[in-house]
Amino acid sequence: MKHLLVDVNCADNDIKAKALKELKNICEQCRACELCKTRTSTVFSDGSPSAPIMLIGEAPGADEDASGIPFVGRAGQLLNQFLEEAGLSRKNDLYICNTIKCRPPQNRVPTQEEKLACQAYLMGQISVVKPKIILLCGSTAVQSFVEQDFKISMLRGKWLNIFDNIEVMAIFHPSYLLRNHSTDTGSPRWLMKKDLQNVKVKLDEILQ
Ligand code: SF4
Repeated sequence: MKHLLVDVNCADNDIKAKALKELKNICEQCRACELCKTRTSTVFSDGSPSAPIMLIGEAPGADEDASGIPFVGRAGQLLNQFLEEAGLSRKNDLYICNTIKCRPPQNRVPTQEEKLACQAYLMGQISVVKPKIILLCGSTAVQSFVEQDFKISMLRGKWLNIFDNIEVMAIFHPSYLLRNHSTDTGSPRWLMKKDLQNVKVKLDEILQ
C-alpha cells in the first residue's frame, strides 16, 4: 500500500532546518507514550535536513539515549563503516532518525502503540526533509510502511513502492550485522555492502 505525505512547502534549506527544529522542540516535551518516563533524552535526528537520503532505524539504544543522537553506539559505528565503503557521507548525504524517538527499556522492540504514538514525528520528518531515497533499516522500520508479513532477508535490497517520488529500500539493521561477522559471498554483511552500493548508484542517477 502506498503512503501519502502531507505536502509541506519546505523548498528552502533554512526553512527545512527551522521546521525540523520546531518539530524537535515539540518532540522533546512529548509524553504521548510510556517511554517518556524512562528516557534520558529524546533522540530526534542526525545529519543534514537537506540530505537526499533518509535512513530510518528502530529505536534509540543506551548510547543514543545518553547522547541524544541516533546511531552512535557500536551499531552506528558499523553503519558509518558501511556508508563510507559505499562512498556515502553520513554528514552530507544522510538524514538519520528512528521509528520511535525514546529508548524502550532493555532495548526491547517497540510496541504497536508506541509506534503509533510516535508516528506523527516520523511522518513530519519525511514530509519536511523530502528525501529522494529512504532506507528502512531493519524490520521495525519496514513494519511501519509494509503491511503484509515479510522477512527482512527476503525484502532487503529491493526498491519498494511506498511513496510517490521517493525510492525506498529495506536494508539490514547494523545491530544484526554485529552478530553476523562473516563477509563471505551471500552473507548479511556482503549483502549490506551490495545494497548500499546500489543505493549509491541510484543516488548518482537521481542527482545527475
Ligand atoms: S517514543 Fe515518541 S510518542 Fe513516545 S514519548 Fe517518546 S517521542 Fe513521545
